[in-house]
Amino acid sequence: MDHPAGLKNVQQDRPIRDEEGLIKNGSSGKNFFPIRRQVQLALFIATIATGLQFYIYVAQAMRGGEITVPRPEGVEGFLPIGALMAWKNFILSGEWDPFHPAAMVILGFAVVLSLAFRKAFCGWFCPIGTLSEWAWRAGAALGVKHHRLPGWIDWPLRSVKYALLGFFVYIILQMTAKDIESFLQSPYYKVADVKMLYFFTHISRITAGVLILLVILSLFFRNFWCRHLCPYGALLGIVATASPFRVQRNAETCTGCGGCHRACAFHLPVHVKKEIRTPECSGCMDCMAACPEKNTLAFRAKGFKTRLNPFQMGFLILASFIAIVYLAKISGHWKSRLPEHEFRSWMTISDFQKIGHPSIPER
Ligand code: SF4
Ligand code: SF4
Repeated sequence: MDHPAGLKNVQQDRPIRDEEGLIKNGSSGKNFFPIRRQVQLALFIATIATGLQFYIYVAQAMRGGEITVPRPEGVEGFLPIGALMAWKNFILSGEWDPFHPAAMVILGFAVVLSLAFRKAFCGWFCPIGTLSEWAWRAGAALGVKHHRLPGWIDWPLRSVKYALLGFFVYIILQMTAKDIESFLQSPYYKVADVKMLYFFTHISRITAGVLILLVILSLFFRNFWCRHLCPYGALLGIVATASPFRVQRNAETCTGCGGCHRACAFHLPVHVKKEIRTPECSGCMDCMAACPEKNTLAFRAKGFKTRLNPFQMGFLILASFIAIVYLAKISGHWKSRLPEHEFRSWMTISDFQKIGHPSIPER
């Protein structure tokens, strides 16, 4: 039976949750809520380790001495715009990007994952999404009450991520095959990973101010960055609309308590919908963890009975990423072919920061 209005209380031999559906007594009651957060933590630690290794690699190259650590190709995951251009170039010319091939692999993985399991890349994998989530969870731990923007601000603000995505896609679509090839061969693109590192290590006051503002907003508004501003998430959300998987609710066993809705960081109306198909759903399964009724919410493919649980989801995400990286490595689609002597020459020029962005020639 549907309960479109009025969210009822539930019996309390269940995990204790606050009014937002967050577990207060430290137990999920189903022993699966922590799995996603363990996956997020593991991937976040891997990202930090990759960043530190890259920092050491670049610092050693800049000093001109011996380089004692291998270049961690995973840093190219932070070059999604370059990866989009490289994919367009691949579609037009069949050429795999020789300088940042891992960026193509990681973007391809995120798109395929979204085609399979909705925006699971955002909910389980992305380190920025993890930081965004940690910020609002830290806010909750500090006693900050989470707010929801009124609809007349929320809707236009949610469109910002699509507008940003549209801007990048428009620019890339405008570029001819020759423009793209010349960008991908430019010194700027060859050292785009180091430019990205500089973005974090030589942070400007304006950038720092914007990041601090985003952190503050994230304390009060759940997943503020992901919900409103991330163009990567917007792309994956659009792709995810083709995914056969979705959260489904059994209206027969649902009591209409609203725990699922309160637990959803994206405020999705799980408690009144038969299934959730919006591009906003990150496949995080927090609604399932919050539901006190057995076999009421399930994440499964349309037309199939078999449901996916968080353990299976976490395993599939990690196993498929490891398999894709392994295949890319053994087939020569992962490692940059930028010669070390050329990389060193860019790192030791007097003013590395002056390697400028190549503009698109006017036509
Ligand atoms: S509907 Fe469920 S799976 Fe989708 S984002 Fe909300 S809590 Fe996560
Ligand atoms: S699906 Fe579960 S958590 Fe959501 S309203 Fe129904 S009983 Fe409550």
